[in-house]
Amino acid sequence: MFFQPSIETLPVTQLRQLQNERLRDLVKYVYSRIPFYKKKFDEAGLNPSFIRSVDDLQKIPFTFKADLRDHYPFRLFAVSQDKIARIHCSSGTTGKPTVVGYTKNDIDIFAEVCARSLTAAGAMPGMKLQNAYGYGLFTGGLGLHYGAEKLGMTVIPVSGGMTDRQILLLRDIQAEVMCCTPSYALTIVEEIKKRHIDPSELKLKYMVLGAEPWTEAIREEVQKGLSVIATNIYGLSEIIGPGVSQEDFEERGTGSHVWEDHFFPEIIDPVSKEPLPEGEFGVLCFTTLTKEATPLLRYWTNDITYLYYDKSSQRTHIKMGAIRGRADDMLIIRGINLFPSQIESVINELPEFSPHYQLLVSRQQTMDSVDVHVELNEKIYAALTDKISDENEPEIFQALRYKLSQKIKDSIGLSMNVIIRNYNTVPRSEGGKLNRVVDSRKK
Ligand code: ADP
Repeated sequence: MFFQPSIETLPVTQLRQLQNERLRDLVKYVYSRIPFYKKKFDEAGLNPSFIRSVDDLQKIPFTFKADLRDHYPFRLFAVSQDKIARIHCSSGTTGKPTVVGYTKNDIDIFAEVCARSLTAAGAMPGMKLQNAYGYGLFTGGLGLHYGAEKLGMTVIPVSGGMTDRQILLLRDIQAEVMCCTPSYALTIVEEIKKRHIDPSELKLKYMVLGAEPWTEAIREEVQKGLSVIATNIYGLSEIIGPGVSQEDFEERGTGSHVWEDHFFPEIIDPVSKEPLPEGEFGVLCFTTLTKEATPLLRYWTNDITYLYYDKSSQRTHIKMGAIRGRADDMLIIRGINLFPSQIESVINELPEFSPHYQLLVSRQQTMDSVDVHVELNEKIYAALTDKISDENEPEIFQALRYKLSQKIKDSIGLSMNVIIRNYNTVPRSEGGKLNRVVDSRKK
């Protein structure tokens, strides 16, 4: 199903034409309205007329999160305050929040891309959406709220957290669609099990999960645990919020369509800063082609992924792979670059463990050390007669610890300490994004 079939299936040559027209207007727009961009262009000896098509984007310098912070709060706004209908901030996962603004038109586009995304996720007019993304400065809640209304759904604006209430409402109001972070979806799965609720008592069919990296193993856990179809939604406040890209529910696992009539994506080599070809991993950058209030040229998201055109999809828009991590989430352990998601993948290959984990990184003298905290999966744990305590360790633990640390060593090349904890003691999401790494070396 499509929300806007003609644009979602527009042949790539026509899509490119539209992007080129929009880019030309955008460049003139930011040059004349935002002194930061005028200065950047002038310093680079660039005139807006030099930018004729998306192939010329490479001539334009990148915009970084630091630029937003340096111009905090309003100095990257392209319109006067009276044209701003709403303000959001990034959740500040990686530092001070950044402020973004929306004109009425920007809010319409935000709703449009969220409606497109919900449709690709399986939602239809008349269905109910239980929206468990946080409402407030975070873009998730309001973004999907407006998108669902635009699509013609009924929204239940629960916001994040309040697990008891989420479950009560899922049972009594019977939403067919729910959106939240993947880590919170796992919390819901566990709670449902704990309360012996059969997923067939709920009407839930589709989960739209995003705002943090997740894996196929989490998808499987959520789909099985709730008897649903779970798809990925991606976005960031600087570009618009959720709805920058979305996975089609019938094409799960093959990447998320970037709505490239509004957000032009590039993949850049983090070292050479040169664009990379289709299929190669690098930093995702976006140019907002239609944003009025806070337009951005070549915004460096820091998210690591790849792009490719999936010719077998009816939608023509480019796909992006799952986010491998943020460039600044990358840990350097004894000189080796490591993304937490790499350890997650290894843990997920061993069915004995639950998908919950936490990494504690420390430095002893000059040596980096990583403790990988994991738990046994619920079934194995329940079958253990002797539970874990300081004095007592079930026998199979030694073997499992060895198995996991060997697997980590083989696939990543680093030795790590595996610590097996009691079921349900590794931190869970209480509604929002979950931080799975504690790096005490930074103190
Ligand atoms: P903050 O940067 O403070 O977390 P945002 O709420 O705007 O602010 O978060 C955007 C970031 O969240 C993205 O840049 C990306 O790192 C992450 N993110 C959002 N959606 C996804 C997703 N589906 N998969 C992986 N990461 C995601």
